[in-house]
Amino acid sequence: MEGAVPTMAKPAGTLCRRCVINSSIPGVHLDAEGICNHCHIHDRLNAMFPLGEEGTRRLQEIVDRIRRDGRGKPFDCVVGLSGGRDTCYCLYKCKQLGLRPLAVHFDNGWDSDIAKNNIRKICTGLDVELHTIIADWEESRELTNCTIRASLPYIDLTDDIGIVHALYSSADKEGVRWIIHSHSFRCEGINPLLWNYMDGRFVRHLIKRFCRIRLKHFKNVDLRNFLYWVFVKRIKVFTMTNYYQDAGEEIDELLKREFGWENTGGWHFDNEIFGLQCYYSRHKFGIDWRVVELAALVREKQMTRDAALAELAEVPAIERKEIVDYALKKQGISPAEWAEIMAAPPKFFTDYPSYYPVLRVIRLPIKVLCRLNILPPHAYEKYFEM
Ligand SMILES: [Zn+2]
Repeated sequence: MEGAVPTMAKPAGTLCRRCVINSSIPGVHLDAEGICNHCHIHDRLNAMFPLGEEGTRRLQEIVDRIRRDGRGKPFDCVVGLSGGRDTCYCLYKCKQLGLRPLAVHFDNGWDSDIAKNNIRKICTGLDVELHTIIADWEESRELTNCTIRASLPYIDLTDDIGIVHALYSSADKEGVRWIIHSHSFRCEGINPLLWNYMDGRFVRHLIKRFCRIRLKHFKNVDLRNFLYWVFVKRIKVFTMTNYYQDAGEEIDELLKREFGWENTGGWHFDNEIFGLQCYYSRHKFGIDWRVVELAALVREKQMTRDAALAELAEVPAIERKEIVDYALKKQGISPAEWAEIMAAPPKFFTDYPSYYPVLRVIRLPIKVLCRLNILPPHAYEKYFEM
């Protein structure tokens, strides 16, 4: 499928014989044995990032480099923190490895109380300095509504831009060369490109076309910001989770025991708008965000395929009516507007201007940047092989 631009969902699909990914998902294709390309990408990443002794040795090598680059500076690296288990455990690992991280949290106005408490507890317990960047609520709300009015499947898109901006600008301000990323292909899988693609040109266009207020605080991440951070400031992204096993109950237990960390109550409960996200994308687009994560856990043998299929047959807990209604009210969306939104035809980033056609032309240099840890290593797979 390399070289093809992803298109909208195909009508009927076949289930991968190994995981729970269905071939009706955009960008998914099955080989002659009935195994999906997400499984092959997972295996390739597992071969690229071995665990065990080899993984520990390579992790130590990169950590030594990060510490050398941090000499004479107040911090060695910036770590994004959401209050969920993955980012909290990543911060813990950084300290265990002798790094001096600066924790950065982007508050979009939807943090649950448990997530807020977890952030405080883990930073106090590890003696890590925390910088919280608070988004302007009116703007944050309007930007989310822009993505909904644009009929796009991922409504948290501009918050993700906010996170990227917060991490790079904090690193830039403190003179730090490394951002530690905790996305885990083993635990979370990789979302299809069509579900949550974003870039600066795309966001700029959405704002121009759908935003009803004048923005004073929002910081987009445009290509020139990115080139400045990557090539002038030489800030690198290191996906540390690639080098350790982050799946399993024992991680929750460790965080609870050592820091009084609390489970946020289930899948994505740290970010309360995700209930609305789930309902909206499942009902309007047939997109169930759980499938990618559950498929990854099946491949990692953290879950049986039958258990994952049984879970997918249930409505996600976060989609409870009161959670969705609360989110709609907080977003200022009336029932009449909501009905209109749900009835409007689904759109994807490919329906709007973006940098994607340019990225496709320069995909080989991007592959090199991914392999050099300058961009997240799985970014190439996501952008050009799904
Ligand atoms: Zn599969």
